Amino acid sequence: MARVPILAGNWKMNCTLPESEALAGELYKEIGQLDDREVIIAPTTPALTAVARQIDGSGYKLSAQDLHWEDSGAFTGEVSGPMLVAAGCSHVIIGHSERRQYFGETDGRVALKVKAALRHKLTPIVCVGETLEERESGETLAVIERQVRGGLDGLDANSIAGLVLAYEPVWAIGTGKVATPQQAQEVHASIRSLVAELANAEVAAGCRILYGGSVKPENVDILMSQEDIDGALVGGASLKAADFARIVRFQS
Ligand code: PEP
Repeated sequence: MARVPILAGNWKMNCTLPESEALAGELYKEIGQLDDREVIIAPTTPALTAVARQIDGSGYKLSAQDLHWEDSGAFTGEVSGPMLVAAGCSHVIIGHSERRQYFGETDGRVALKVKAALRHKLTPIVCVGETLEERESGETLAVIERQVRGGLDGLDANSIAGLVLAYEPVWAIGTGKVATPQQAQEVHASIRSLVAELANAEVAAGCRILYGGSVKPENVDILMSQEDIDGALVGGASLKAADFARIVRFQS
């Protein structure tokens, strides 16, 4: 089954509102309109509405970087699914390693957030990844399995078909160290087998699994040539319009 590639830019906590508008405009100038791949942009929460306006008509999709699992209430500082939908989002990143590392995100919370996103027809981009210590002690596949099982806990095959997964080794995020194509492929293939077990073979065959971790114009082509890598979740390089444009235009 052909899987349409996804190239997603996670802007993290970067760019003020005017800077976000300018970057979105520059991206469109560099990339233009494409119909054989999906481009997703994840700016900060205060910039969502402005970027939504900026990319209107481009075909690019808008993602948030996180959400709360409740729809509203006394949760100071949080944003909910209905708020993200109203701001123009179609996607939301969940379980990013920076949230796991610095903000106590657990697999249980990831599962609650995934369900909240699906309830509001937002496509979750569910991130998993091992630390360097876990890789060096041979635990990579076990850690990934635990995170995928935990994050997708309680979902039926239909729901699993509605999400995107991202493998992001923690040691490769923002460090300039990239997983070798073989290391990434091994984990992606194991995630796809697990999706087949948790849902079914058809859902697994159609499931988009992105790689993230120091993706750059120089390494995107070889990563994208791997059988089970269906796209990239890009941090640092998504803040430079020319670099992100080259990543979007990967050749494999
Ligand atoms: C990310 O933020 O998801 C990421 C992969 O960052 P970077 O590309 O900077 O490593």
